[in-house]
Amino acid sequence: MKKIGVFVCWCGLNISSTVDVGKASEELKNYPGVFYADDYKYLCSDPGQELIKKTIIDNKLEGIVVAACSPNMHESTFRAAAEAAGLNPYRVEITNIREQTSWVHSNKEDATIKAIQLIKATVEKVKKSEDLFPQQIPLTKKVLVIGGGISGMTVALEVAEAGYPVILVEKEPQIGGNMAKLSETFPTLDCASCILTPKTAEVGRHSNITLMTNSEVVESSGYFGNFTVKIKRKPTFVDWEKCIGCMLCQEKCPKKTNSDFEHGMGKRKAISVAFPQAIPYRPIINEKECIYFKTGKCKMCVKVCPVDCIEFEQLENIVEENIGAIVVASGYELLPKEKLSEYGQGKYADVIDGMQFERIASASGPTEGVIRRPSDGKIPQSIVFIQCAGSRDNQKDRPYCSKICCMYTAKHAMLYKHQVHDGTATVFYMDIRAGGKGYEEFVQRAIEDDHVLYLRGRVARVYEEDGKLVVLGVDTLSSEQVRIEADLVVLATAVIPSEKAKVLGQTLKVGTDAYGFFNEAHPKLRPVESMTKGVFLAGCAQAPRDIPETVSQATGAAAKVITMFSKNHLVSDPQVAKVNEKICVGCLQCEPICPYKAIEPETIEVRIGHTVEKRQVATINKGLCQGCGACSVACRSGAMNLSGFSNEQILEELKALCL
Ligand SMILES: Cc1cc2nc3c(=O)[nH]c(=O)nc-3n(C[C@H](O)[C@H](O)[C@H](O)COP(=O)(O)OP(=O)(O)OC[C@H]3O[C@@H](n4cnc5c(N)ncnc54)[C@H](O)[C@@H]3O)c2cc1C
Repeated sequence: MKKIGVFVCWCGLNISSTVDVGKASEELKNYPGVFYADDYKYLCSDPGQELIKKTIIDNKLEGIVVAACSPNMHESTFRAAAEAAGLNPYRVEITNIREQTSWVHSNKEDATIKAIQLIKATVEKVKKSEDLFPQQIPLTKKVLVIGGGISGMTVALEVAEAGYPVILVEKEPQIGGNMAKLSETFPTLDCASCILTPKTAEVGRHSNITLMTNSEVVESSGYFGNFTVKIKRKPTFVDWEKCIGCMLCQEKCPKKTNSDFEHGMGKRKAISVAFPQAIPYRPIINEKECIYFKTGKCKMCVKVCPVDCIEFEQLENIVEENIGAIVVASGYELLPKEKLSEYGQGKYADVIDGMQFERIASASGPTEGVIRRPSDGKIPQSIVFIQCAGSRDNQKDRPYCSKICCMYTAKHAMLYKHQVHDGTATVFYMDIRAGGKGYEEFVQRAIEDDHVLYLRGRVARVYEEDGKLVVLGVDTLSSEQVRIEADLVVLATAVIPSEKAKVLGQTLKVGTDAYGFFNEAHPKLRPVESMTKGVFLAGCAQAPRDIPETVSQATGAAAKVITMFSKNHLVSDPQVAKVNEKICVGCLQCEPICPYKAIEPETIEVRIGHTVEKRQVATINKGLCQGCGACSVACRSGAMNLSGFSNEQILEELKALCL
């Protein structure tokens, strides 16, 4: 039997007000195997850790239980203290008597009984613990950033500036993301492209950044520090190396089509660059629209190209890259207005969404910044802005707040009033969420200086009557029904994850929440890490947020990557699955269950008594295994075990709980 020490933490009043910590430590003193037990006010404090170290050394303890808060909080603190005292850190176990006991019970007597029972169970686990040793794993110091919006570019530039190579993959032909489509930005009303283009230009020329636009990650394997990814490079049908960006092809191309970049507000040619400041400033041919691809005739671009760089025969190709870390920065889209039946389901030309408004307000947009309504190009005299169009709406399965709409709606209303001084701007809102530096003041400016009319209430319906748009709603402050005839209606539609986020999540084995945004490892303490080691998150891929918050979070993700790359090798957690090859029957039931693809079959020689047998067994890739334990649950022969959470340990804990 091991010599075990038990330390019960008061956590100030957090635990001690509900659990009788003195009684718990007294009772544990008499428990079989426990050599030492005591309680202390704050075990995580310096003196608390010193107490643990001294007690381990003085009593030659062989294992310890710390009954305190969640292991998420201080497991590493107590393990480090034990290690400093010469005890293998994996001989330390935490009993969570705060989140799982004191915080969830009010009856002190019952809570104390529960705490004592849980501590005893942990003592049983420690009795069966063994020394575990982390392994060194190699590290490829190159990062893959997925998404070339402001978040992805920020990560790429930070990591590249620290001296590490970056591959930036963007699905569109150019970088910039949604910010490249914005007109001016709240709360300062700087022109978006004035603050964005220095960044895009820097990304384009940075010697440590390899830019792969028009590309997507289609496969990922490997693990923390050592991933291999396959990137699909879609054809542009133009040799970008040869192209000099003269754009004669775009000018002369006879085929006009709707521009995705303009969100249906403007046209482009079948061979084009999305916008004048695009990086890379190189055209691509839209295969579905190009006359040559459709009919075999035309080739106007070939005729006018001075450097002979049109390549109709280009095919997509796959490139493979070895990288150490991945940052997902795939951003957001807007809920299609076609899904909002109360606002016309997309059938009215003059009911547009926020991004469409950005394009008509943008100096580089289709109307050169003059706000005109799409149906007839006239300047609207009355605009109604509707916030929370699809957000904070259970019926649309989007109960969350899209966070940026209150601010950009105020901006839109302001931009309009700056152009059409005698026009009417009415905003329907549920409540105004303007929590940011200078944000509340910005909204007040819209109301007080620019005379934007804010009406609290939801809009019931938008419809057309005698060729005019009618907005029907309720002003909940006056309890009056409101009917407004509008020339233009702008919907602040819900922010949703990028269309490809789910597939990307599956490819990278990174989880998404109920709405498709990427899940962080811990909402407070690890907000830029995903649950998959080595994969980090930046920007709106994780949740809706504005540019300042996106840039801060992206800088955080970059710092995580740089910290990771500052080491010569990585250290893996030894609490991973292990196979007892003697009893593994090679059924491989565990293989499809493993979410990290860490299990593979292997033929090995097994010595049983005097004979040596060749058998197929399961093997674990320790770099890939995240220690979730799914395989040990699936293993019918009991050959699969999780180090630090062995079947035997868990059974002993259960026995102690049931006694
Ligand atoms: C109407 C409107 C107005 C706004 N105005 C303001 C404002 O004034 N001020 C402000 O602070 N914020 C504003 N915002 C918010 C701002 O747009 C975002 O904060 C910012 O764009 C988020 O950047 P991002 O890089 O996270 O995402 P994005 O800009 O969406 O960039 C993501 C990039 O990833 C790419 N991508 C997606 N999936 C993949 C994939 N699988 N593979 C490769 N690439 C992929 C996308 O093509 C895109 O280029 C506004 C938002 C809206 C909707």
